[in-house]
Amino acid sequence: MSTLPKSVLGVDIGGTGIKAAIVDTHTGTLLTERHKILTPKPATPQAVAEVYQHMVEYFRWDGVVGCGFPAIIQHGVARSAANIDDSWIGVDVKALFEQQAGLPVTVLNDADVAGMAEMAVGAGAGRMGTVMLITLGTGLGSALFTDGKLVPNTEFGHFYLRKHKVVVEKYCSNMIRKRDNLSWIEWTARFNEYLKLLDRLFTPDLYILGGGGSKHFDVFKDMLVTNAEVVPAVYQNRAGVIGAAVAAATVHQMVTSS
Ligand code: BGC
Repeated sequence: MSTLPKSVLGVDIGGTGIKAAIVDTHTGTLLTERHKILTPKPATPQAVAEVYQHMVEYFRWDGVVGCGFPAIIQHGVARSAANIDDSWIGVDVKALFEQQAGLPVTVLNDADVAGMAEMAVGAGAGRMGTVMLITLGTGLGSALFTDGKLVPNTEFGHFYLRKHKVVVEKYCSNMIRKRDNLSWIEWTARFNEYLKLLDRLFTPDLYILGGGGSKHFDVFKDMLVTNAEVVPAVYQNRAGVIGAAVAAATVHQMVTSS
């Protein structure tokens, strides 16, 4: 049986930035600085594939790659496009990136991999019950775990708020907070509406808040209203890169040992 590859290149593709670093998948630590490039506009498959290739070349990488991607990803294929170009829908992201850089890659939803990192070595380590990671970034990502097991592609940031006639991520993502210059009181009041909805539907035991917005956790934590415990992600917006690498190492081990 083969063992978990120790070093994996983790690539986190977001609506605003694309980040990458080499990760020690046994400990979840970064072995290099993160390298960040702005997401091309428009974020078409070819433009993003070129940035992906740049990351591989920048790190002179010649091994397994893990990639978090901001869309529903079913068996490597993108099934939605919210903060990326619509032309991604139906694209086999795994096949495209493998062709572009010639290296084996595992592609999964970006929030799912961030959640996997937090559950493996971060704020959710060892936690049973219902745990939900929410990423506060350009969009609102979600990852749902029951007794440590991921339910992939939940996309809870796309719930429609009938009262405001808007989907949640266009109402209270970190990008909307910045764009509309919302005070922390205003933004938290909006986010609390989202938590109330999630509480009603899923009764989570724990929320883990990640993404760029979680850096400000101390500013808004006392204003949060929910029945569940809420903690900031240990890896904040590094969780995407780490989780992508950890997930790829696990998948690679399963494939090579079967
Ligand atoms: C996408 C999700 C993604 C989230 C965070 C949303 O717009 O639909 O797939 O997880 O943004 O990047």
